[in-house]
Amino acid sequence: MKIQAAVAWEAGATLSIEEFDLDEPRDDEILVKVEAVGVCHTDDNARLGRLPVVFPIILGHEGAGLVERTGRNVAKVKPGDRVLFTPDYCGKCEQCVLGGTPYCDQVVPVTFIGTRPDGSPRAHQDGKPVRASFFGQSSFATHSLVTERNIVPVQEGAPLHYLAGFTCGVQTGAGAILNAMPVHTASRVAIWGTGAVGLAAVMAAKASGAAEIVALDRVGHRLALAAELGATAAIDTSGQDLADVATAVVKLTGRGADVALDTTGNPLVILAAVQSLATHGTASVITSIGAPVTLSPGELLLKGRQLRGTMGGHINPTVFIPRLLDLHAKGRFPVDRLVKNYPFAEVNQAIADSLSGETIKPVLCLPGG
Ligand SMILES: [Zn+2]
Ligand SMILES: [Zn+2]
Repeated sequence: MKIQAAVAWEAGATLSIEEFDLDEPRDDEILVKVEAVGVCHTDDNARLGRLPVVFPIILGHEGAGLVERTGRNVAKVKPGDRVLFTPDYCGKCEQCVLGGTPYCDQVVPVTFIGTRPDGSPRAHQDGKPVRASFFGQSSFATHSLVTERNIVPVQEGAPLHYLAGFTCGVQTGAGAILNAMPVHTASRVAIWGTGAVGLAAVMAAKASGAAEIVALDRVGHRLALAAELGATAAIDTSGQDLADVATAVVKLTGRGADVALDTTGNPLVILAAVQSLATHGTASVITSIGAPVTLSPGELLLKGRQLRGTMGGHINPTVFIPRLLDLHAKGRFPVDRLVKNYPFAEVNQAIADSLSGETIKPVLCLPGG
């Protein structure tokens, strides 16, 4: 079928919305009319060739929409159902079987190569193949092909124009706090960087009842929102020496942070996040892109601290997203506060506004969505 989709023809090229031929759904595939799709820094890192994608590729990995048609082996959904897309995974390796799908052994090919597992492309233009399985979805498009592995059904009438923002960065921030480094009512938490991932972590820490939630950023309006969403203290780091900022976090919390989350990928911020930790505190990174971190072993050893990585939401999103939706329904995870909607035609502007910090979580609305 004919679709409109935003393609990156080569590394560094501006995304171009063009017509493509999308395959009919195979037996295990689901054709979804995309109604909304979140924009994430990962889309831009892929566009710039900083991730191992193969061009040309249709980007977009936080899609949501209406099931139009299903292959004959699909039982999880039927035409007319509404679904959120999640990052794909192989479903067969040890981590996938254990439920740790973000750590799938095949995460690089499944996420970035952009073809089906058998190597076939899902889309063409003028008979030439175009990669259309970015994160198993390539959802900067009017239609996507997905499978039962990477969808979460949601209620009829669910507000996809902001729920689309749940499925990557938001679950990453929330999962770091709720799944990877669980906090409790006595916990001191420091969130370094309050974009969508960081603000999701703030909301998760608040929902967990953390005693102290320190938000750190260089953008004033993001810190103001962090305070509204539950941060008990906000530190504007602009122009400050990060070692001094780490000392300030220790002072504010009395003993240092038990849990620190770096959302920036900046090696100096990661070092400061570690230096802000209490004894036995844990800091986590959530991005694979960034310069090497220089860290004296003593920063970890002398206080028994840990520095770790947390991928995705740390557990299978088809389990985790419904938990977040439940928290959202109870008013304890107000993701809608982060979202600004853009028409699909403004995909490049939405990416630019995300990168500049102007918009915390852009979500594109597709025609008819
Ligand atoms: Zn796997
Ligand atoms: Zn993402």
